Amino acid sequence: MTEKRVGRVRFMDQQRVNLDGFAHEDAALGLVAMSSPADPVPSLVVRDGHVVEMDGRPAEEFDTLDALVAAHGIDLEIAEEAMALEDVALARLFVDPAVSRSEVVRLVAGTTPAKLARVVTLLRPPELTMAMTKLRARRTPSNQAHVTNRLDDPLLLAADAATAAAFGFREIETTVPVLADAPSNAVAVTVGAAVASPGVLVQCSVEEAMELEMGIRGLVSYAETVSLYGTESVFVDGDDTPYSKAILAAAYASRGVKMRVSSGAGAEVLMGGAEGCSMLYLESRCVSLARALGVQGVQNGGIDGASVAASVPGGVKELMAENVMVMARNLEACTGNDALMSESDVRRTSRTLPILLAGSDYVTSGFGSIQRYDNMFGPSQWNAEDIDDWLAMQRDWGVDGGLRTASPDDIAQLRRDAAEACRDVYRWLGLADFTDEHVELAVDAVGSKDLGDPDPMVVLGAANTIRSSGLGSLEVARALQECGYDAAAGRVLAMLAARVHGDHLQTAAIFDESMNVLSLVTDPNDYAGPGTGYEPSPERQAEIDAVRQARGVEDLRADQEEWATNAFDVVGAAEQGSDPREVVIGVSPGVGRTVWRTLSGLPVVEVLRELLAGLEEEGCKARVVRVNSTLDLGMVGLQAARLSGSGIGIGLQGKGTALIHRRDLPPLANLELYSMAPVITPALYRLLGSNAGRHAKGATPVPARNPYTDEAIEARYHTSVIALVALERRCVDRALGNEHLQVTL
Ligand code: CA
Repeated sequence: MTEKRVGRVRFMDQQRVNLDGFAHEDAALGLVAMSSPADPVPSLVVRDGHVVEMDGRPAEEFDTLDALVAAHGIDLEIAEEAMALEDVALARLFVDPAVSRSEVVRLVAGTTPAKLARVVTLLRPPELTMAMTKLRARRTPSNQAHVTNRLDDPLLLAADAATAAAFGFREIETTVPVLADAPSNAVAVTVGAAVASPGVLVQCSVEEAMELEMGIRGLVSYAETVSLYGTESVFVDGDDTPYSKAILAAAYASRGVKMRVSSGAGAEVLMGGAEGCSMLYLESRCVSLARALGVQGVQNGGIDGASVAASVPGGVKELMAENVMVMARNLEACTGNDALMSESDVRRTSRTLPILLAGSDYVTSGFGSIQRYDNMFGPSQWNAEDIDDWLAMQRDWGVDGGLRTASPDDIAQLRRDAAEACRDVYRWLGLADFTDEHVELAVDAVGSKDLGDPDPMVVLGAANTIRSSGLGSLEVARALQECGYDAAAGRVLAMLAARVHGDHLQTAAIFDESMNVLSLVTDPNDYAGPGTGYEPSPERQAEIDAVRQARGVEDLRADQEEWATNAFDVVGAAEQGSDPREVVIGVSPGVGRTVWRTLSGLPVVEVLRELLAGLEEEGCKARVVRVNSTLDLGMVGLQAARLSGSGIGIGLQGKGTALIHRRDLPPLANLELYSMAPVITPALYRLLGSNAGRHAKGATPVPARNPYTDEAIEARYHTSVIALVALERRCVDRALGNEHLQVTL
């Protein structure tokens, strides 16, 4: 029998991390992150230029995955050299900055799936981070957003796509809750992205035939949800083979559509087809297969199965190792961070941070730039509520996570431009007629819940018209131009032209905002230790550093001046008091000059009103004195105590910190201290006044306690404190002495 758990454990049970699932390892089910007894021992036998055995299996027993990998996924000229290397020797090359990326890539091209899995298994977490820093294909990191909504509302999609582009996302992935809506979503997101920025790649992830059709028509510019699996049985269950995926990949490439595949740990376990192998080994098969298919890259690192991997020991490490295998095989890496793997903010951050620090071709493979409830892929690992966190993390570490601050005014203008452009294009093309009110709702909407209840048949009708009329991006560009959106029209056209050039079909290609292709070819990662590799340009660093919440002394001065009053009059020099019932309130030098309001938002006059009322309740006389010689609260309070007839003084800083002092105590000792200025209430100031009065009468009052709070008070107010202190410091004037103030309450 278990006793009822004690409070400490009950408290722990309630924490959000316990909403996650944790599983015992189970090799038979494939619930093992990195090494299972069933994982094959690496081997490669080549005869007459053909692989006759791979990873312990003779060619006669190859399944379709083995056959494709053996025929197209391994560079047989390198294989002998690569396979002869000790696992640990090859692993060391991954992290040695003196060994170039190209050398690692050259050797890995000769490895089998089991060999590569064994090598990355040896890397410790910081070594995975080093390996990713060195091995990702593109020098400049980037990021991908999800833009979807529950209603497939075109105006909201356009506004949200423009918002995502404003924050710096260079790829936007949309999808649908209603398959038939897909062409409308593709058009809406294309329009929205084009309003905000040139060169944003757009994807609409849906059923393969419709997605390909949209790609061929130019309605989308990339595709990535062609799924690969690590065992043949799971492929076949999905009515697929690796060969059908190869044909699909070639079809996209033939029309200049950027194309990568999706895979990742957990998929095979979830479908009961892991065949007892570890997640990393099965993913290594997928990555080798991607190489063999000739696709541009891989979106992996968990994806839909991320939480399965995260449920077992070493699972999060395995997710990152998947990405490193992609990079080592010289493919574009769209690194996981897609599906939400934990309800715990700490675990989420722990899982993503090493990848953010290392940098990746796409740091997240789908940042939910919209509301969680609107994310039709399911909540992402990172969502709209995390954008400010992401910007802060970039700034904290000085790294480029692909995003930047968009000013509130820019966001407002872009959302309006995008929603209006989308409305006008739909009207011009005869797809739908949206009202002005609908535009207004979409511009201001946080998510689709703010749109009221639009008619779902309107979107469906628009989508059907797009599909049946054969309308493509050329018509969308023309409509934009006819409606007066020349810049957006030019951007849609430029993307179509780029598909003819095909430069963006190189590995890890994105377009920058001047339509330059950044890829393995034009922007290769050249990391080779400190002082090399990607550093943000000064302009980019300034974008990373400039979060909209940052404030300085001048901002605070302006805030304070809004509260300036003429309530403080200097009567003259402060005299020594003699009345035994007198308590002096000493205020800091800035009060009534540059500082008018405390950190809690109370005007200093209000604080004084409460202190004086508290003293009056005790029948004490009070005087307010500005101590001009020092900022130190203990000294301000002590000066006040020394001037007061009773020998008791109150010290009050402009920021609101207060104490009670007595004339015979050392400066740093005091009777009562209210240190938590931001949370001191009027009632507490009144109590402080009363207690000072009781001390003056020789009583021993019950000391007031700082209120309970578990917020990061210091973190939130430190910048204000620094600025307030700077303002007060400028007012320090020893020659001025102590001034007796008349305060108009
Ligand atoms: Ca994605």
